[in-house]
Amino acid sequence: MNTVVSDVSSGLARVKDEIAAACRDAGREPSSVTLIAVSKTFGEEAIEQAIAAGQKIFGENRVQESKGKWPAIRQRHPDLALHLIGPLQSNKAKEALALFDAIHSVDRPSICEALAKEIQKEGKQPLLFVQVNTGAEPQKAGVLPEQADAFVKECRGAYGFDIAGLMCIPPFDEAPAPHFALTAKIAERNGLKLLSMGMSADFTTAIAFGATHVRVGSAIFGGRA
Ligand SMILES: *Cc1c(COP(=O)(O)O)cnc(C)c1O
Repeated sequence: MNTVVSDVSSGLARVKDEIAAACRDAGREPSSVTLIAVSKTFGEEAIEQAIAAGQKIFGENRVQESKGKWPAIRQRHPDLALHLIGPLQSNKAKEALALFDAIHSVDRPSICEALAKEIQKEGKQPLLFVQVNTGAEPQKAGVLPEQADAFVKECRGAYGFDIAGLMCIPPFDEAPAPHFALTAKIAERNGLKLLSMGMSADFTTAIAFGATHVRVGSAIFGGRA
Protein backbone atom coordinates (compact mmCIF):
# COMPACT_ATOMS: atom_id res chain seq x y z
CA MET A 1 0.00 0.00 0.00
CA ASN A 2 1.13 3.53 -0.68
CA THR A 3 1.54 5.33 2.60
CA VAL A 4 2.95 8.70 1.55
CA VAL A 5 0.14 11.19 1.55
CA SER A 6 1.24 14.47 0.04
CA ASP A 7 -1.86 16.50 0.61
CA VAL A 8 -5.10 14.81 -0.21
CA SER A 9 -7.36 17.73 0.64
CA SER A 10 -5.56 20.15 -1.67
CA GLY A 11 -5.49 17.54 -4.46
CA LEU A 12 -9.21 17.08 -4.01
CA ALA A 13 -9.86 20.83 -4.03
CA ARG A 14 -7.81 21.24 -7.20
CA VAL A 15 -9.68 18.46 -9.00
CA LYS A 16 -13.05 19.92 -7.94
CA ASP A 17 -11.99 23.34 -9.27
CA GLU A 18 -11.00 21.78 -12.58
CA ILE A 19 -14.31 19.93 -12.79
CA ALA A 20 -16.18 23.16 -12.16
CA ALA A 21 -14.15 24.97 -14.83
CA ALA A 22 -14.68 22.16 -17.37
CA CYS A 23 -18.42 22.26 -16.65
CA ARG A 24 -18.47 26.02 -17.13
CA ASP A 25 -16.67 25.63 -20.49
CA ALA A 26 -19.13 22.94 -21.57
CA GLY A 27 -22.20 24.87 -20.37
CA ARG A 28 -22.98 22.17 -17.82
CA GLU A 29 -23.95 22.27 -14.15
CA PRO A 30 -21.07 21.14 -11.89
CA SER A 31 -23.64 18.99 -10.07
CA SER A 32 -24.06 16.94 -13.28
CA VAL A 33 -20.60 15.43 -12.74
CA THR A 34 -19.93 12.95 -9.94
CA LEU A 35 -16.34 12.72 -8.76
CA ILE A 36 -15.27 9.18 -7.87
CA ALA A 37 -12.06 9.34 -5.83
CA VAL A 38 -10.06 6.29 -6.90
CA SER A 39 -8.23 5.10 -3.79
CA LYS A 40 -6.69 1.87 -5.10
CA THR A 41 -3.28 1.13 -3.52
CA PHE A 42 -3.86 3.84 -0.89
CA GLY A 43 -4.54 2.98 2.73
CA GLU A 44 -6.97 4.15 5.36
CA GLU A 45 -4.96 7.20 6.30
CA ALA A 46 -5.22 8.74 2.83
CA ILE A 47 -8.87 7.73 2.49
CA GLU A 48 -9.73 9.28 5.86
CA GLN A 49 -8.14 12.54 4.70
CA ALA A 50 -10.37 12.59 1.65
CA ILE A 51 -13.43 11.84 3.80
CA ALA A 52 -12.46 14.64 6.19
CA ALA A 53 -12.33 16.95 3.16
CA GLY A 54 -15.91 16.00 2.30
CA GLN A 55 -15.45 13.24 -0.28
CA LYS A 56 -18.13 10.54 -0.08
CA ILE A 57 -17.77 8.50 -3.28
CA PHE A 58 -14.77 6.25 -3.80
CA GLY A 59 -13.60 3.82 -6.46
CA GLU A 60 -11.50 0.67 -6.26
CA ASN A 61 -10.39 -1.68 -9.00
CA ARG A 62 -9.93 -4.90 -7.03
CA VAL A 63 -12.45 -6.84 -4.97
CA GLN A 64 -9.72 -8.50 -2.90
CA GLU A 65 -8.02 -5.24 -1.93
CA SER A 66 -11.35 -3.60 -1.12
CA LYS A 67 -12.38 -6.46 1.14
CA GLY A 68 -9.34 -5.79 3.28
CA LYS A 69 -9.68 -2.07 3.75
CA TRP A 70 -13.27 -0.89 3.21
CA PRO A 71 -15.52 -2.66 5.73
CA ALA A 72 -13.85 -0.89 8.66
CA ILE A 73 -13.94 2.50 6.95
CA ARG A 74 -17.58 2.10 5.97
CA GLN A 75 -18.48 1.13 9.49
CA ARG A 76 -17.08 4.46 10.68
CA HIS A 77 -18.71 6.37 7.80
CA PRO A 78 -22.03 4.78 6.83
CA ASP A 79 -22.87 7.47 4.28
CA LEU A 80 -20.09 6.61 1.80
CA ALA A 81 -20.56 4.94 -1.58
CA LEU A 82 -18.05 2.57 -3.13
CA HIS A 83 -17.76 1.90 -6.88
CA LEU A 84 -16.02 -1.09 -8.48
CA ILE A 85 -14.22 0.31 -11.53
CA GLY A 86 -11.98 -2.67 -12.33
CA PRO A 87 -12.74 -5.99 -14.02
CA LEU A 88 -14.96 -8.47 -12.23
CA GLN A 89 -14.73 -12.28 -12.21
CA SER A 90 -18.00 -14.14 -11.88
CA ASN A 91 -16.75 -16.06 -8.84
CA LYS A 92 -16.35 -12.69 -7.08
CA ALA A 93 -19.86 -11.44 -7.85
CA LYS A 94 -21.18 -12.20 -4.38
CA GLU A 95 -18.32 -10.39 -2.64
CA ALA A 96 -18.53 -7.52 -5.10
CA LEU A 97 -22.23 -6.99 -4.40
CA ALA A 98 -21.63 -7.07 -0.68
CA LEU A 99 -18.93 -4.39 -0.95
CA PHE A 100 -19.93 -2.11 -3.81
CA ASP A 101 -22.83 0.22 -4.58
CA ALA A 102 -21.94 0.46 -8.25
CA ILE A 103 -20.21 -1.78 -10.78
CA HIS A 104 -18.65 -0.14 -13.85
CA SER A 105 -17.35 -3.30 -15.54
CA VAL A 106 -20.33 -5.37 -16.68
CA ASP A 107 -19.09 -6.82 -19.98
CA ARG A 108 -20.13 -10.44 -20.53
CA PRO A 109 -23.01 -12.86 -19.98
CA SER A 110 -21.18 -14.90 -17.32
CA ILE A 111 -20.85 -11.76 -15.17
CA CYS A 112 -24.50 -10.89 -15.76
CA GLU A 113 -25.58 -14.35 -14.74
CA ALA A 114 -23.55 -14.29 -11.53
CA LEU A 115 -24.68 -10.75 -10.69
CA ALA A 116 -28.33 -11.45 -11.45
CA LYS A 117 -28.34 -14.39 -9.07
CA GLU A 118 -26.83 -12.37 -6.23
CA ILE A 119 -28.94 -9.27 -6.93
CA GLN A 120 -32.05 -11.38 -6.60
CA LYS A 121 -30.82 -13.20 -3.52
CA GLU A 122 -29.62 -10.09 -1.67
CA GLY A 123 -32.34 -7.74 -2.92
CA LYS A 124 -29.73 -5.12 -3.82
CA GLN A 125 -29.94 -2.52 -6.58
CA PRO A 126 -26.36 -1.64 -7.57
CA LEU A 127 -25.79 1.03 -10.19
CA LEU A 128 -24.63 -0.89 -13.27
CA PHE A 129 -22.45 0.33 -16.13
CA VAL A 130 -21.54 -1.65 -19.22
CA GLN A 131 -17.85 -1.29 -20.01
CA VAL A 132 -17.03 -0.67 -23.67
CA ASN A 133 -13.57 -1.53 -25.00
CA THR A 134 -13.55 1.41 -27.41
CA GLY A 135 -9.98 0.76 -28.56
CA ALA A 136 -10.63 -2.98 -29.09
CA GLU A 137 -7.54 -3.69 -26.99
CA PRO A 138 -7.07 -7.44 -26.47
CA GLN A 139 -5.81 -7.08 -22.88
CA LYS A 140 -8.63 -4.78 -21.82
CA ALA A 141 -12.03 -5.68 -20.39
CA GLY A 142 -15.21 -4.44 -22.00
CA VAL A 143 -17.55 -5.32 -24.81
CA LEU A 144 -16.48 -4.30 -28.33
CA PRO A 145 -18.21 -1.15 -29.65
CA GLU A 146 -19.98 -3.06 -32.43
CA GLN A 147 -21.37 -5.54 -29.89
CA ALA A 148 -22.45 -2.95 -27.34
CA ASP A 149 -26.04 -2.44 -28.54
CA ALA A 150 -26.76 -6.18 -28.53
CA PHE A 151 -25.12 -6.64 -25.14
CA VAL A 152 -27.07 -3.80 -23.51
CA LYS A 153 -30.24 -5.33 -24.93
CA GLU A 154 -29.28 -8.73 -23.51
CA CYS A 155 -28.55 -7.18 -20.09
CA ARG A 156 -32.00 -5.62 -20.05
CA GLY A 157 -33.90 -8.53 -21.54
CA ALA A 158 -32.29 -11.75 -20.37
CA TYR A 159 -31.13 -10.46 -16.99
CA GLY A 160 -33.63 -7.72 -16.22
CA PHE A 161 -30.90 -5.19 -15.44
CA ASP A 162 -31.65 -1.51 -15.36
CA ILE A 163 -28.33 -0.56 -16.99
CA ALA A 164 -27.53 3.01 -15.94
CA GLY A 165 -24.77 3.87 -18.35
CA LEU A 166 -21.52 3.06 -20.12
CA MET A 167 -17.91 3.13 -19.00
CA CYS A 168 -14.75 3.33 -21.07
CA ILE A 169 -10.97 3.52 -20.59
CA PRO A 170 -9.35 4.94 -23.74
CA PRO A 171 -6.09 3.35 -24.91
CA PHE A 172 -3.17 4.78 -22.96
CA ASP A 173 -1.33 6.02 -26.06
CA GLU A 174 -4.19 7.58 -28.01
CA ALA A 175 -6.06 10.88 -27.85
CA PRO A 176 -9.04 10.16 -25.58
CA ALA A 177 -11.59 12.45 -27.25
CA PRO A 178 -12.70 10.07 -30.05
CA HIS A 179 -13.16 7.29 -27.48
CA PHE A 180 -15.30 9.53 -25.26
CA ALA A 181 -17.33 10.64 -28.29
CA LEU A 182 -17.91 7.04 -29.37
CA THR A 183 -18.99 5.99 -25.88
CA ALA A 184 -21.40 8.94 -25.66
CA LYS A 185 -22.86 8.04 -29.04
CA ILE A 186 -23.44 4.39 -28.08
CA ALA A 187 -25.04 5.52 -24.79
CA GLU A 188 -27.32 7.97 -26.55
CA ARG A 189 -28.70 5.51 -29.09
CA ASN A 190 -29.35 3.00 -26.29
CA GLY A 191 -31.10 5.49 -24.04
CA LEU A 192 -28.39 5.36 -21.37
CA LYS A 193 -27.97 8.50 -19.26
CA LEU A 194 -24.73 7.95 -17.37
CA LEU A 195 -21.19 8.05 -18.73
CA SER A 196 -18.29 6.86 -16.60
CA MET A 197 -15.26 8.28 -18.38
CA GLY A 198 -12.23 10.41 -17.61
CA MET A 199 -9.27 9.79 -15.31
CA SER A 200 -6.58 12.12 -13.87
CA ALA A 201 -5.06 12.87 -17.28
CA ASP A 202 -8.25 13.45 -19.24
CA PHE A 203 -11.28 14.13 -17.01
CA THR A 204 -11.74 17.67 -18.31
CA THR A 205 -11.92 16.33 -21.89
CA ALA A 206 -14.36 13.64 -20.73
CA ILE A 207 -16.60 16.32 -19.22
CA ALA A 208 -16.65 18.14 -22.55
CA PHE A 209 -17.99 14.89 -24.07
CA GLY A 210 -20.68 14.43 -21.45
CA ALA A 211 -19.06 12.38 -18.66
CA THR A 212 -21.36 12.12 -15.63
CA HIS A 213 -18.87 10.12 -13.54
CA VAL A 214 -15.14 10.87 -13.59
CA ARG A 215 -12.78 8.38 -11.95
CA VAL A 216 -9.82 10.29 -10.55
CA GLY A 217 -7.01 8.74 -8.53
CA SER A 218 -3.48 10.13 -8.76
CA ALA A 219 -4.56 13.77 -9.15
CA ILE A 220 -6.13 13.45 -5.69
CA PHE A 221 -3.98 10.94 -3.80
CA GLY A 222 -0.64 11.33 -5.57
CA GLY A 223 1.34 8.88 -7.69
CA ARG A 224 1.05 5.15 -7.14
CA ALA A 225 4.15 3.04 -6.48
C1 LIG B 1 -6.81 3.54 -11.57
C2 LIG B 1 -8.02 3.80 -12.36
C3 LIG B 1 -8.50 5.11 -12.51
C4 LIG B 1 -7.82 6.33 -11.92
O1 LIG B 1 -6.62 6.56 -12.59
P1 LIG B 1 -5.77 7.92 -12.33
O2 LIG B 1 -4.98 8.06 -13.58
O3 LIG B 1 -4.93 7.65 -11.14
O4 LIG B 1 -6.73 9.00 -12.12
C5 LIG B 1 -9.67 5.28 -13.23
N1 LIG B 1 -10.33 4.24 -13.79
C6 LIG B 1 -9.89 2.97 -13.67
C7 LIG B 1 -10.66 1.88 -14.30
C8 LIG B 1 -8.72 2.71 -12.96
O5 LIG B 1 -8.29 1.44 -12.84
